[in-house]
Formats: sequence, structure tokens, C-alpha cells
Amino acid sequence: MFFREIAGQKALKERLIKSVRDQRVSHAQLFLGKQGVGGLPLALAYAQYISCTNRQESDSCGECPSCKKFSKLIHPDLHFVFPVINTPAIEKAVSDNYLPIWRERLLENPYISYDEWLESLEAENKQAIISKYESESILHKLSFKTYESEYKVMIIWLPEKMNQPAANKLLKILEEPWEKTVFLLVSEDTQHMLTTILSRTQLISVGPIEDDELIKELVSNQGVDEKTAAEIALLAEGSLSRAMHGLNHSEENRAHFDRFTRWMRNCYTKNIPEMSTWVDEMAGLGREKQKAFLIFALRLVRESFLLNNKQPGLSRLAQEEAAFCSKFAPFIHQNNTLQLADELNTAHYHIERNGYAKLVFFDLSLKIMQLLKA
Ligand SMILES: [Zn+2]
Repeated sequence: MFFREIAGQKALKERLIKSVRDQRVSHAQLFLGKQGVGGLPLALAYAQYISCTNRQESDSCGECPSCKKFSKLIHPDLHFVFPVINTPAIEKAVSDNYLPIWRERLLENPYISYDEWLESLEAENKQAIISKYESESILHKLSFKTYESEYKVMIIWLPEKMNQPAANKLLKILEEPWEKTVFLLVSEDTQHMLTTILSRTQLISVGPIEDDELIKELVSNQGVDEKTAAEIALLAEGSLSRAMHGLNHSEENRAHFDRFTRWMRNCYTKNIPEMSTWVDEMAGLGREKQKAFLIFALRLVRESFLLNNKQPGLSRLAQEEAAFCSKFAPFIHQNNTLQLADELNTAHYHIERNGYAKLVFFDLSLKIMQLLKA
């Protein structure tokens, strides 16, 4: 995870980066903020930055062996603790039992919520917890020297889900000075955080994402026009998760989705009369919506490509979108993805500079017809 991939939180990012550059990384820190504001992605980006062997001014390099491993969350000095459930097959469950699925989910969505995690665990009515067995596993990991990095980093997600025996043991662990080990606790319980934990950690308050940063995220990465983005941000209370939820249920998004699916069907079946109707409709939309639609289309093409390659991306697809993309994915492959993206970007460029919309969209449709057959 890079700092630049995280919405907003500019001042906090700068503070975290400075602490590493000044070699003042304290050994136990508590990232405390509501769901969706970015506590977990910040802890991940921070951990990656701590381990990066070629740190840049404001982010990890992305190229060094450490960053490469962080990009898949498989660095041997990066450890995770998170709530899990017992099953008939896994008694005395600890995080390691669920590590593959945890990595997969986290790579898809670093803003994951507890409820989404429960769904991934197929927990049904069970609650996931961090049990006392976890502390044995933690001690075991701490007993090894670091493999590759200067520091071992242990990210403990939702310490509020610890039961009492686990909490007591963890507190003891936090009291000890562990050489070259950094604990990053990420909590969403802003009301009832144990004072004992608070007293043993440095508090990093993660506030709501600023509205203008949320709007920027929605406009530049999700294909939403300014006005809709502002409406969504207003209701999101600084949480990217809430904003994405709002977006997936917004009329604007549904309209884009409907336009995109019709368009792709027309392109694939080479239905020229329907295509003309579609182009007329697009031309009537106005420039902001046209641009937003093109970004939306880029996103779905990218998601489809990732699905086709079974690569978990930063997926933020709504249910219906995911269903469509999984059917559409076989047509988006390495021989046409880059060109498709290029054509969409070019069209965006022309629309932005007052190109004649009917021509731009017709031309684009013809090119996409060819590329889908490639
Ligand atoms: Zn690096």
C-alpha cells in the first residue's frame, strides 16, 4: 500500500513519514478512527515505508524487494493479527489459519469493515474474536529475529475484539521492550478503547477524510461528476466506505452502468442502429457527465481485466457491476486492455477540449467494436 493511494489524511501522512525519516518510530502505536476513514490502509502504508530500502520523499519506492513483497502482503517481517472464528475444522483458531483469505480481501479493499470480514469468513451468526491462543502465536513470531528488514511490524486489526484473557496477555507483551519490533494497533472503537491499551501505546487519531478529498477521490477514480460527488460526500461523514456505499446506490452510478452495459452489447454485436441511438443519448448529456462516464467505463474495463486475470485489484464493484464484469471479463485481455484504456483516455481528452461529442463517441464505439473482436 502506498500513501498516495489513500484518500485524504495529508497531515497525518506527513507526520508518519517524518517519524520514519527522523528515526522516531515508537514501538507501539494505536491508529484510532471510525470505519472507513483509513486506519488500516495508513498502517499498511506506514509499515511498507518503514521497511522500504529506497524511501522516497513522500512514499515508498515500490521497486525494492521489500516493497515488492509488501505489494502482495507476503513480507516475512510483516505480521497480522485480526479477529477469527472457530470451526469444526479449525479449533483454537488464530490469524495464521486465515492468512490467505485475509491477504486476498485486504488487497481488494484495504478499507474492509468488520462486517465485510465476517462475510468473507462465512461466519453466519458467529462473532469473530481475537482469543488467548493468538498471544501464543504472537510470542512465537516475536521469538524470531527479523528475516529481511530492520524492523518486524505487527499489525493488530480491531484489538477491541480481544476477549479478556487475550487482552491481558497482549498488554503484557506490549509492556516488554521488543527489539526492533513495531506494533501497529488499528481500532475503530473510538468510545470504549481500553485505557490500559491507550496508556501503553502512542495514540494516532485518524479523523474523518476531508470532504474535498472525498470528492476528489470520487471524481478522479470512480467516474462521478462533481455535483453527485459533493452530494455523496455530504452524507459520507468522512468515511470512504460510506461514500462508496452511497456511490454504488446512487442514481448516477446506475445510469452509467446501464449506459455501459448497453454500449458494450451494441459494440459486441455490431448493432449500428442501436449504436447511433446510444451515441445521440450520450451527446445530449453534457460535458461533465460525458467525462464522468468515460472514467466509469475505464474503471469497469480495468476491473474486468483484473477479474479475467484473477488478480485481486482494489475492487470496489457493486454487486450488479461485479456480475456483469465477470461475464464481460473474457473479452478483456492483454491484447486489448491497454488499447481500450488508451481509446477511453483519448476520448476523455477530446471531450475535455470541447470535441464534438457525437463524433467522439461514434469514433470511439467503432474502435471498441474492433478491439473487442481482437
Ligand atoms: Zn521500497
